Amino acid sequence: MSATLGTGNGAKPSKTPNPYFISPKNPKNVHHIAGIPVEFPYKPYGTQLSFMYRVISTLDRAQKDGHCHALIESPTGTGKSLSLLCSTLAWQKNYKINNIKGILSQSIPDPEAVTDPLGHGGGFIPETQPSTSSIPSSSISEPPQNAANSKNKKKMLAPTIYYASRTHSQISQVIREYRKTSYRVPMAILASRKHYCTNPHVSKENIDEECKLLLSQEEGCSEFKNMHKVKCHPSVQKGGCHEAHDIEDIVKIGQVVKGCAYYAARSMADDAQLIFCPYSYIINLVIRGAMDVDIKGAIIVLDEAHNLEDIAREGGSVDLEEDALHKLQMELHQLKMIKADVYQPLSEMIMNLISWIEQTKSKLEATNESKHYFSSWTGDKAVRQLQEANISQQFFPVLLECATKAIRAASDTESDVLHLSGMSVITLEGCSLH
Ligand code: SF4
Repeated sequence: MSATLGTGNGAKPSKTPNPYFISPKNPKNVHHIAGIPVEFPYKPYGTQLSFMYRVISTLDRAQKDGHCHALIESPTGTGKSLSLLCSTLAWQKNYKINNIKGILSQSIPDPEAVTDPLGHGGGFIPETQPSTSSIPSSSISEPPQNAANSKNKKKMLAPTIYYASRTHSQISQVIREYRKTSYRVPMAILASRKHYCTNPHVSKENIDEECKLLLSQEEGCSEFKNMHKVKCHPSVQKGGCHEAHDIEDIVKIGQVVKGCAYYAARSMADDAQLIFCPYSYIINLVIRGAMDVDIKGAIIVLDEAHNLEDIAREGGSVDLEEDALHKLQMELHQLKMIKADVYQPLSEMIMNLISWIEQTKSKLEATNESKHYFSSWTGDKAVRQLQEANISQQFFPVLLECATKAIRAASDTESDVLHLSGMSVITLEGCSLH
C-alpha cells in the first residue's frame, strides 16, 4: 500500500490555542478514533479529532485499495503537525500489533480464524500476511544482518512513515512536536553533508565533492570509519536521551566520538520506521534512487504541501556549464570501456547535448552582434529542440536507470571500481533530473 497525505494552512484559527489539559480519568489521553486508540498529549479539539479521523481513514483505505491520497487543510496554530504525527504513528502501531498477532496466530493454527475474518484482530486483515515459513516470529526482535534484510523486515512489520518538509528548520519544529508524543519508533533524518559532515578539515563550500574525493583516496576519512559509533551510540538507542533526535544531536554525537554523522544518519534510515527529510528526497527520482529512499508501500506526509508547486519547479531547473559537460563527457568516455551498459548511453546523451549546444551557439553568434545572447523555448518547442539533439522521451527510462546506477556507483564508498568524480556526479544529476 501507499498513502500520501498533503497538508496545508487554511485561514487563521478563530479559537485560542488548546489549553494543555489532561483528564485525570484518562492520563495517557487515549482517544479511539476511526476504530484505533490514539495517544494525544493534550485533550484534542474537535478539529484535531476530525483531522486525525481523516488521516486514519485515508490510511485504512490505502491498505484496502493499495493506495489512497488525502489533501487536508487546517489553520495555522491548530496543532496540525502533532495531529498528523499522533494519527500516523497510532495507525502504524496498530498495524504492527495486528501483524504480529497474525504471525503468532499462524504459528498456532486456529481453525476459527481461517473461516472468521473477525479472528484477525477485530476484522483487521493485514494486507501482507507473512507466512510462518518466510518470517519466523523470532525474527521480529532479531538484529538486522544487513541493510537489505533490515529494510525488508522493516517493511513487512509496518509501512515506513516519510515526513517531508521544505526546510530543515521546519523539520526541527516537527521533531519538537514528535518529542511531545508518547510514540517512539526507530527514526532518522535525511539531510545533506552540509548539515551533517563532522570532518573539521572539509570545507563546507564544496563539501560533496571533497567528501567523495576523500573517500576515493586510500587514507579515506577517519570520521567515516567511526560512523558506527554514532549509529550505535547509547543516547540514540531505545530509551536514550536522543532516541527522538534532531540533526544537531547527531552532529554533536559525531563530534564527540569523531564519527561521520552523515553516513550514520543514512544507515539509521535503513532501520527507521519514521524518516524526516526534505521534499526533494521524495519528489526527485534521481536523489531518491541515489539515497536508496524506497517509498513503495510507505506512508508519505508532505507537510505544508502548498509549497510543492515551487519545489517541483525548482527541481526541474538546472544551470549547466559547458566546461562541466566536457569533463563529464571525458569521464563517461573512459568509463564506457569498463562498463558499456551503464556509461555508453550516458556518454552518447552528453555528446549529443554538447554538439547541440555548439550548433545552437553558432547560430546565435551569427545572428546577434551582442555577446549577451540567449534563447528560450517552451513546451513542444523545447521537446523538439531536445529531439534535434537526439534526446527523445522514449530513451528517458533507460537514461534515468543508467544515471541512477552511475551516481550510486560513485556514492558507494566501499567499492574499488572506477567511477565518476564528485563534480561529474553533480553535473549528471543536473542533466538527469531535468
Ligand atoms: S565521510 Fe562524512 S565526515 Fe567524512 S567528509 Fe564525508 S560527510 Fe564528512
